[in-house]
Amino acid sequence: MGVGAIEQVELEDVGPIRVETRACPQCGADNTARAARHSRAPWTIKDCGDCGFVYLEKAPVYDELFRTLAWQKNWKREEKRRKKARPLSYRASKLTRFRLHMFPRKQVDDLTIRFARPGNVIDIGCAGGKRLATLPDQFVPFGIEIEEEIAAQADTLFRTKGGRAVNASSLDGLKQFDDGFFSAATLRSYLEHEVQPREVMTEIARTLAPGGIAIIKVPNYSSVMRPIMGLEWSGFRFPDHVNYFTPASLRQMIEGVGLNVRRFNFFDQMPTSDNMWMIAERR
Ligand SMILES: [Zn+2]
Repeated sequence: MGVGAIEQVELEDVGPIRVETRACPQCGADNTARAARHSRAPWTIKDCGDCGFVYLEKAPVYDELFRTLAWQKNWKREEKRRKKARPLSYRASKLTRFRLHMFPRKQVDDLTIRFARPGNVIDIGCAGGKRLATLPDQFVPFGIEIEEEIAAQADTLFRTKGGRAVNASSLDGLKQFDDGFFSAATLRSYLEHEVQPREVMTEIARTLAPGGIAIIKVPNYSSVMRPIMGLEWSGFRFPDHVNYFTPASLRQMIEGVGLNVRRFNFFDQMPTSDNMWMIAERR
C-alpha cells in the first residue's frame, strides 16, 4: 500500500476501522519500502530514511469518523443503546477515549502562569474544558475538541470566562483564529495522537502572538525504559500514538515551523522519564 492509501483493518476489541498510510509527518518522505522498526500486527512503526522521525505508518482516520458521527450528541446517556444499534461507531468512540481522560493539571497551569503573558490561551484537544478551568482570570480560555458533545461542554464553560471552544479537528479549528490571537497554547498528551503534527504546529506558530508560548508534553521515545520494556513500554499505544518523538525530533519539528525552544532542559527531557516537556516560543 502506497502513501495516502486507505484500507480497512480489523482491530481487536474495536472492530473494523479505516486507516490511511502516512508519509513521514516531519519531512513528507515515503518510507513504505523500508523495514519496520517495531511492529505489532497490523501496526508498523517506521523510522524515516531521510530525517529519522519515528511514526506509525498506518493511522486511523479519526477526523472522518467524527465528522460523520452526528449522532454522537448525548453519547454518554445513550451509550448502551448505541452499542447495540451502532457497534462500529460505539467502538470508534471507545478507541479515542484517551481524549476524555483527566490529566493532572497542576503542572501545565504552573507553566502557563509562569511563562505566558496574560491573554487568550488555547488547549488543543480540550475535551470538556476542565483543564483550563482553574487558570487565573488574566487568561481567557479557548479550546478545540473534535467530539461534539464534550466540545459543547467546554464551550459553555469557556464562554463564562470570555472564551469559547470550537468543535473541529485541531487543524480546521486553529484556522478559525486570527494571526497572533493567543498568548499560549497547551498541548498535553496530544501531539503523539495527531496525524498532522507539523501542520498543526505551523498553525499554532501563526496564531501565537510574538512572545507567545506553546507548552508541550509528549512521550519520550528516547526513554531508557523503551528498550528495556520493548513493546510493553508505556509510550507504545497501538494505534492511538501515531508519532514517537525524541528530544531531537521534537526540537526539529518546533524549530522547523519557526518557533524557538524557550525551555527544554535536562529535567524536561530526562532519559529516565517516559515523558518530556518543552516550552516553545514565537519570536
Ligand atoms: Zn522524515
